[in-house]
Amino acid sequence: MTQEYDFISLGIGSAGMAAAIYAKRFNLKTLAIGQESGGLLNEAYKVENYPGFTSISGLDLMMKFREHVKALDIEVVEDSIKGIKKLPDKDGKPFFEVETTSKGSYFSKTILVALGSERRKLKVPGEAKLTGKGVSFCATCDGPFFKDKIVGVVGGSDSAAQAALLLSEYAKKVYIIYRKEKIRAEPIYHSRIENAKNITIINNTNIVEIVGDKMIEKVIFDQEYNGSREFALEGLFVSIGSGPNSEKAAQLGVELDGQRHIKINRLSETNIPGVYAAGDIADGPMKQAITGAAEGVIASQSAFELLK
Ligand SMILES: Cc1cc2nc3c(=O)[nH]c(=O)nc-3n(C[C@H](O)[C@H](O)[C@H](O)COP(=O)(O)OP(=O)(O)OC[C@H]3O[C@@H](n4cnc5c(N)ncnc54)[C@H](O)[C@@H]3O)c2cc1C
Repeated sequence: MTQEYDFISLGIGSAGMAAAIYAKRFNLKTLAIGQESGGLLNEAYKVENYPGFTSISGLDLMMKFREHVKALDIEVVEDSIKGIKKLPDKDGKPFFEVETTSKGSYFSKTILVALGSERRKLKVPGEAKLTGKGVSFCATCDGPFFKDKIVGVVGGSDSAAQAALLLSEYAKKVYIIYRKEKIRAEPIYHSRIENAKNITIINNTNIVEIVGDKMIEKVIFDQEYNGSREFALEGLFVSIGSGPNSEKAAQLGVELDGQRHIKINRLSETNIPGVYAAGDIADGPMKQAITGAAEGVIASQSAFELLK
């Protein structure tokens, strides 16, 4: 049976879910497809900048989005997306096929690409082999396993600072390892890190190798720290940012910027009529839950205008 929709959100993170909520309320036949409900924000230990919530865990905030989606009876398919195809126009409107890995194809007049981003890797020897064996990309998910251990966090952004602060609640000692002179996290995180008794920052240092057999044992720096390039660690959290998941949109012919973000205008439109983008995958100036949600909402309004 052909499953046809007016609006399909590809992605069920903050951008995709917000868009689906508005699309449904615009009376569009709406579907949301994605691998992980809640997306990247599930990993945020604490969200303290989403209006209406002074402090809430990312997981709980996304649970509230999910409850809202459910309350509106929005159809959600949890599956991975294999490909997106532009088909010949139907009834004078664009027409697209979204192919999933295990649940077949879904068809729609408009689609929103809100597939977020993928974690950047260090790309050093040992990283792939020891991922899941002490090397992690998610402090919120894996932090509790490192109780009383000595761990490192690679990176200097807000996410890295948040990861270090979270880990400091479990681990005996946390080292932030950053390639530049000074971490670039928001000032509020600087003071929290300074106040934490068990966090030390190692600046101007890169990891060139991760060493271990069954588990991580140590890392090798590109220069000496306390007289040695070898540094013993029982856990390493890589928090060096991410790149947009824009490959499938690029195959469809959607225009990307130099960093492979999808180019959108103020209506969240891409260069292809009927295809919109929002959130971390798009070239907007901020990558936050609220800005992604706003871009998604604008996309559903644009789809509504196109279809009416
Ligand atoms: C540690 C951390 C802390 C953060 N803290 C904050 C904060 O305090 N405040 C704030 O506003 N923002 C914060 N952020 C940023 C915020 O998480 C992102 O800006 C937001 O999640 C982007 O939403 P999105 O919907 O664009 O993408 P995502 O949330 O990444 O969602 C992408 C969706 O696409 C799906 N997907 C991807 N590829 C496929 C595929 N091939 N097939 C099917 N589905 C796919 C995913 O499963 C997911 O459902 C934080 C991020 C991190 C990592």
